[in-house]
Amino acid sequence: MASVLIALGGNVGDVRATFRKAIAHICGMAQAAMIARSSDYSTPPWGDEDQDPFVNACVEIETGLDPHALLFVMQKVEQKFGRTRNKDRQWGPRTLDLDMIAYDDVSFQKPDLTLPHPRLFERAFVLVPLAEIAPDRVIAGIRVRDGLASVSTQGIERLRDTG
Ligand code: ATP
Ligand code: CA
Ligand code: CA
Repeated sequence: MASVLIALGGNVGDVRATFRKAIAHICGMAQAAMIARSSDYSTPPWGDEDQDPFVNACVEIETGLDPHALLFVMQKVEQKFGRTRNKDRQWGPRTLDLDMIAYDDVSFQKPDLTLPHPRLFERAFVLVPLAEIAPDRVIAGIRVRDGLASVSTQGIERLRDTG
């Protein structure tokens, strides 16, 4: 079994409800166990600032699927929740974005999958929820809590549990 960290994001529709359903679908389709789930956070848009704030969260799952099989599942779940890709707007609005942040200590760069996720340490919206569930995990030689300490977390707010 592999330990996998997945980052969730979205800013269209009832994103927190989408997250709950998406996580259940991933676990079902990937025969995965959920090990940890962060809180949800409201975060300022990144890369393309002319859009609504995002909700972001991270989960750790354990799965027997290999990285590409898991990516396939994640893309199926994105599609199920209405994710469309707009070529003209790279980091634009979306219902659901699922990024594989790390898969055990696997490291490779392929056309459709790079592990660990290459932009992880530029992104407070990933590091804040990740540090909540895996502060001591070392990814690409950097401890998550140290990565978090080197970015600005301005504008990021933890959302209350919805119960
Ligand atoms: P970013 O990757 O900068 O967060 P994005 O999430 O908006 O941008 P997408 O349009 O969701 O980008 O994905 C583009 C492609 O990235 C996907 O089709 C997928 O094949 C590829 N990809 C490469 N590495 C990963 C990864 N670690 N997790 C998820 N997708 C990945
Ligand atoms: Ca992304
Ligand atoms: Ca993505």
